[in-house]
Amino acid sequence: MSPARAPRPDERRFVARVAPERRRDFSRRLRRWFDRASRDLPWRRTRDPYRILVSELMLQQTQVDRVVGFYERFLDRFPSLEHVAAAPPTRVLEAWDGLGYYARARNLRALAVQVVAEGSPARLPEEPEALRALPGVGPYTAGAVASFAFERRAPLVDTNVERVLRRVFAPRLVPKAPRTHRLLWALAEALLPRTGRATWTHNQALMELGALVCTARVAHCERCPVRACCDTARAQGKRSRAGVAGAG
Ligand code: SF4
Repeated sequence: MSPARAPRPDERRFVARVAPERRRDFSRRLRRWFDRASRDLPWRRTRDPYRILVSELMLQQTQVDRVVGFYERFLDRFPSLEHVAAAPPTRVLEAWDGLGYYARARNLRALAVQVVAEGSPARLPEEPEALRALPGVGPYTAGAVASFAFERRAPLVDTNVERVLRRVFAPRLVPKAPRTHRLLWALAEALLPRTGRATWTHNQALMELGALVCTARVAHCERCPVRACCDTARAQGKRSRAGVAGAG
């Protein structure tokens, strides 16, 4: 589902199957766990939209551990959008060297040039729809910047979040299928807590759970904070009592 459009009938029906109490319970468990178990990452200590954007672009297709060093060095060389816009493209690419997927660096410079040309001081927009109009910003990145920088009630679904939501609420959906992605975007929006501050934690926690506990390789259900409201864990419990194992 695009964050900008009204939900389709099948999305509304899908979301309605998850009772509001279950949605609230899921989000509360997730946020409590994040408060005590999350990693201290540099982009979680800031609300600077430019810094959040850089971290989100770097984290696409790249492991957190690898990004941390690049992130600090890049921001030392380019502390603001204005610095990126004023630099020759080759200098921006040089600073990205070793991180791969160089289209991200080219898009960042194109974005910086556009935003700087639109007004001084250069400011990223707060709304996901406006962010999506910028070079290289897709629905996930737009949601991440809106939520993590501006504390907007914006959903975000990347592969980690999609996997967590599918396992918890809809394990029968086909992984990575376009319909699954659409339905889970709609659900992600319905799961958001009321306030922007709580949404910040909720979204960070969803991503953290997908990275640390409910991973692509293995679902660590035995230490998962949302086990009590997870359909996959419940089904696994039934299967293991019946002598069958395995997670989707
Ligand atoms: S209980 Fe297991 S399958 Fe469910 S979200 Fe947690 S780790 Fe994933």
